[in-house]
Amino acid sequence: MDTLELDPRLRHASTFLGRSPKMLIDGRMVGALSSKTFEVVNPATGAVIANVPEGDKADVDLAVAAARRTFDSGVWAKVSPSEKSRILWRVADLVERDLEELAELESIDNGKPYAVARVADLPLVVDMFRYMGGWATKLGGRTIPWSLPGQFLSYTMKEPVGVVGQIIPWNFPLLMAAWKIAPALAAGCTVVLKAAEQTPMTALRLAEIIQEAEVPAGVVNILTGFGETAGAALAAHPDVDKIAFTGSTEVGKLIVQAAAGNLKKVSLELGGKSPAIILPDADVDAAIAGAANAIFFNHGQCCCAGSRLFAHKKVYDKIVAGVADIAAKIKVGPGLDPATEMGPLVSDEQFARVTRYIKSGREQGAKVAVGGERVGNLGYFVAPTVFENTKPDMQIITEEIFGPVVCAMPFEDDDLDRIGREANDTSYGLAASVWTTNGGTAHKLAQRIRSGTVWINCHNVFDASLPFGGYKQSGWGREMGEEVFHNYTETKAITAAL
Ligand code: ADP
Repeated sequence: MDTLELDPRLRHASTFLGRSPKMLIDGRMVGALSSKTFEVVNPATGAVIANVPEGDKADVDLAVAAARRTFDSGVWAKVSPSEKSRILWRVADLVERDLEELAELESIDNGKPYAVARVADLPLVVDMFRYMGGWATKLGGRTIPWSLPGQFLSYTMKEPVGVVGQIIPWNFPLLMAAWKIAPALAAGCTVVLKAAEQTPMTALRLAEIIQEAEVPAGVVNILTGFGETAGAALAAHPDVDKIAFTGSTEVGKLIVQAAAGNLKKVSLELGGKSPAIILPDADVDAAIAGAANAIFFNHGQCCCAGSRLFAHKKVYDKIVAGVADIAAKIKVGPGLDPATEMGPLVSDEQFARVTRYIKSGREQGAKVAVGGERVGNLGYFVAPTVFENTKPDMQIITEEIFGPVVCAMPFEDDDLDRIGREANDTSYGLAASVWTTNGGTAHKLAQRIRSGTVWINCHNVFDASLPFGGYKQSGWGREMGEEVFHNYTETKAITAAL
C-alpha cells in the first residue's frame, strides 16, 4: 500500500484502491494462483495507483472450469428469464449507486476526464444492463411454414451458446465490460471476462458489484492479466464455446487462430479509420464542431473515431481552420481536474505509438496545422493534432492511430459514387459520418458507404439498442441491440411429424 500514490482529489475511490482489488472466480474474490500482481499506473502522472492480480493460464483454467460447471449443470439456465432480468437490473442499480466512485476509477485508470466518465461512459453502462435485462424475457424462436409433402410442425428455439470468453480493451473499460457481460447473461451464457491490463480497475469493482447483485457463483468470472498469457489462454481454451473480442485488428487475427483449435464461435469488434465527410452544403459551424468531436472525443481512442476528415474543396479551408481552432483551445490536463477537456493517453506504449505516427506524418510530407507535440513532461499527454496535405498512401491515412490526430483531405467531386469510393478506400469499415443539409444526399451517400454505422450530421452517437460493428477488417458480428444475440445464441430447429 505504501507504494501507492493516490490523488487527493479522489472523493469516492480511495477505499476500493486501498483494499487490494481481487479477481472474481467461481463466486469468490481471489488473487492470482501464482500470487503475482502487476502495477496499474495513472497515465496523468505515471504514479502507481494499485497492484492487481496477474492472472495467467492457471487462473483462466479455474475460471473456465467454474463457468463450464455452472453452464452444464444449468445453474444459470434454471434461473427464469424474468429473474435474469431482475438480476441484470440489480447490477444496473448498483452501478448507478456507485456512479461517482466508478467514474473516478475510470478517470485515474484510463486518463479520461472525470466529467466524461460520469456523463458518458457510466450512464451507458447502466443503460446497457437495463436494456439487455429486458431482452432476457424476449429471446424466443418462431414457427416455420412447411412446403414439402407430409405434415410437420417446425419451430426454432434460441439457446445460449455456452461458456463465453470475453476480452476487452482499455478505451472504455467499464462500458466494454457491460457491452460484453450484459447480453451474454441475458442469453443464458456463463462468462469469463478478461479486462485490459492497462485499465483493470472498474472491471474489478464491477466484480464486487456482481457479487452484491447475487449473480450465482461461477456464472460471471472476471480476470485481470496480460493479453499474451491470460488472454491467449482464454482464446485457445477447449472448454470455451465462444470468444467475444474487442481490440486491435492485429490481435483479432491472433484470436481467430487461437479459436481454431475447438472451432469456437468468434465475434470481433476491431479497428477503424472512419471518415467524416463534409459536403459543400453542410452547416459549416455544426460540421466543424462535429468533426472535432468525432476525432477528439475520448482523445481519439475510439475505434470509430473520425480520423479521416474529408471536406469538399468549397468548404475545406474553413473546416480545417475551424477544427484546428477547436483543437488549439482544448484544455489538456489530468482527468480529475475539473477544467480538463482532454486527459492523457492511456499508457506510455500508446503515447509512443501516437507520437511515432505524428513523426511519420511529418516525414511523409503532411503538414501539422495545429498540435503535433507532447504536452508537459509528466504523464502521457499529446496535443490535439490536425494534419493537412495528407495523401492516400501515407501511413497516417492507411493505419489506425488511435489518438487525437485527424488527417484532413479535400475532395473535388460532387458525384456521390466517387465520394463513396474515396471514403471506402480503407481496409476498415466500422463507421462514417456524413455532413449535409440535404436529406436525400445524406441517405444516398449513407447507402454507398461500406461500414457498420453511418451517422448523419452527428458522430459518436450510441444507444444500447443500436447494433455496432464492422464491415471488412473492422470485425465480425455486432455488439448491442437485438443483433448482439447472434453472438450469444444458437438456433435450434425442432421438427415433429404430425
Ligand atoms: P490495444 O492495441 O489497443 O492495446 P489490444 O488488441 O492489444 O489493444 O488489446 C485488447 C485486449 O486484447 C486486451 O485485453 C489485451 O490484453 C488482449 N490481448 C492482447 N494480446 C492478446 C493475445 N495474443 N491473445 C488474447 N488476448 C490478447
